[in-house]
Amino acid sequence: MVEKLKNYIGGEWVDSSATEYTPVVNPATCEVIAEVPDSPAADVDAAVSAAKEAFWEWRTTPVLSRAQYMYRLKALLEERFEEISRTIVEENGKTIDEARGEARRGIESVDFAMAVPSLMQGYKTEDISSGIDETAERQPLGVFAAITPFNFPMMVPLWFLPTAITTGNTFLVKPSPQTPLSMQLLYELLDELDLPEGVVNLVHGGIPASTAVMEHPDVVGVSFVGSSAVAKIVYETCAKHGKRVQAQGGAKNYIAVMPDANMEASIVNILGSAYGCAGQRCLAGSVVVAVGDAYDKLQEELKDRAAKLRVGMGLEETTQMGTVISESARERIEGMIEEGLKEGAELVLDGRGVKVEGFEKGSFVGPTILGGVKKDMTVAQEEIFGPVLSMIKVDSFDEAVEVINNSRYGNAASIFTSNGRYAREFKYRVQAGNIGINIGVAAAQASFPFGGQKDSFFGDLHGQGPDSIDFYTDRKVLIERWY
Ligand code: NAD
Repeated sequence: MVEKLKNYIGGEWVDSSATEYTPVVNPATCEVIAEVPDSPAADVDAAVSAAKEAFWEWRTTPVLSRAQYMYRLKALLEERFEEISRTIVEENGKTIDEARGEARRGIESVDFAMAVPSLMQGYKTEDISSGIDETAERQPLGVFAAITPFNFPMMVPLWFLPTAITTGNTFLVKPSPQTPLSMQLLYELLDELDLPEGVVNLVHGGIPASTAVMEHPDVVGVSFVGSSAVAKIVYETCAKHGKRVQAQGGAKNYIAVMPDANMEASIVNILGSAYGCAGQRCLAGSVVVAVGDAYDKLQEELKDRAAKLRVGMGLEETTQMGTVISESARERIEGMIEEGLKEGAELVLDGRGVKVEGFEKGSFVGPTILGGVKKDMTVAQEEIFGPVLSMIKVDSFDEAVEVINNSRYGNAASIFTSNGRYAREFKYRVQAGNIGINIGVAAAQASFPFGGQKDSFFGDLHGQGPDSIDFYTDRKVLIERWY
C-alpha cells in the first residue's frame, strides 16, 4: 500500500476530506509512489482559517525572531540535502545533479529571507511640510498562498514561502498534484521548526483547491507559477476577488547566435539550455536563431553532441538527461514533433521512441532537433516543454530580433556574440524579462526579481528579490504633526 498524503493545517498533519485520490507516478519506473488527495474547498477553508488565526501573533513577533526560523530552516535543508534531491528525482524524473541544483537554488531563497529585517525597513522624510513628518512603513497583510508547478517542486514554493512568512504574513502552499512529495518533505522540516501553529499550511490537490484559494475572501494575495493559460485564469480570478497576484506563465525561449560568437561556448550552453531537465525548465532554450554562417556549423555540432547525451534514470550519476514528467507529456511532446514535420521542418535528430534498458516503461524522450524551422510554425511558437530544439536560419541581427519579438511569450532570450553593440541592442530591443548575454539559462539569483513579459507574466511585481518584499508588504503612510 502506498502512502496517502495528508495536508498540513494549523501545525498538524491531517487527512484530507477528499473523496478522490490521484496516483503519484515515478516517471522513470512508472511505479505509483504515493496517492495525493484532490482536496476540496473545505480543506482550503480550514487551512486559511488556521493561517488567519495565526496572523496577528505572528505579525507582532519581532522580525528578528521571525528571521531566526530561516537560519534553522537552512540548517535542516542542508542536513537533508541529499534526501531532498533524491525525492525531487523520484517524483519529477530529472537527474540527481539537476535536483541538487534545484535544492541549492531553493536554499538561496531562504538565504534571501534572512535579510528581511533590513529589506523591510520603511523610509521617512522630516518636514515634508512645515512641522510635518511623513513615514512609509512596511506591514504584512495577512494570508498569502502559492500555487506551484511540477517542474521545480522544491525550488518554486521556496521562491515565495520564506519571504512571505519572514515579512510577517502566514502562508499556504498548493503544490502540483504531479509532484507533491517535495512539499511533503519541506513541511516535515517546517514542522521541526516549531513555528506557531497555522503560520505555514499545505493543501494538496488540483483545480478545486486552486479555485478555493483564488476565491477565498481571507486570502490577500496569490503567487502562481505554471502554464500561461492557467496563469491568465489565476490573474483574472484573483483580480476579480480583490487580491494581489503575481502569475508567472509559460515560455518559448529563443537563443540567437551571431557568426562572431565563440562557437564552442555557444554549443555547450545551448545543449545545457535545451536538454537540461529534459527541456522542462521555463528558461529552457527552445529555438536557436542562427545568423548567417552560424547555422550550418551549429546544426552539425549540436546534432553530434546531443545524440551522445546519456538518457536514463535520474538517480544514476552517469545519466545526463532524465525523463519527462509523464506518459501523457511524452505523447504530447512526440505529437508536437510530428506536427513540426508536417509543417515542413527537417528531422535532424529524432528522440522519439527512446528505450532505456531496465526502465522500459519510463517516460523518456531523447534529444531532438528540428532544422529549417520557419518563425510561424507551431514548433517555433508554442511551448513544447520537452527536449526539442528548433533551428531557424536568418540573415541578420535585425531579423533575429524580429523573429524573437514575434513570439507571444517573453520569459527569456539569449544571444551569443563577441560584439558589444549586438549584445547591448539585444538587451535593449528584445521583449523578454530575463536576458542572457553568452549565457544559456538566464536564471535570476534569489536577490533579483525573476523577470517575464507578455504572456509569460501577468502582474507587475515579480517573484524574488526586492519585488517580493513589495508584494508581501503594504507601504502604510503615516503623516504626523505635533502641537
Ligand atoms: P500548470 O499550469 O498545468 O499547473 C500549475 C499549477 O496550477 C498546479 O498546481 C496545478 O494544479 C494548478 N492548475 C492547473 N490547472 C488549473 C486551473 N484551471 N485553475 C487553477 N489552477 C490550476 O503547469 P505545470 O504543467 O505544472 O508546469 C509547467 C508550466 O509551468 C510550463 O508552462 C512552464 O513554462 C511553467 N513555468 C513557469 C515558470 C516561470 O517562472 N515563468 C517557472 C516554472 C514553470
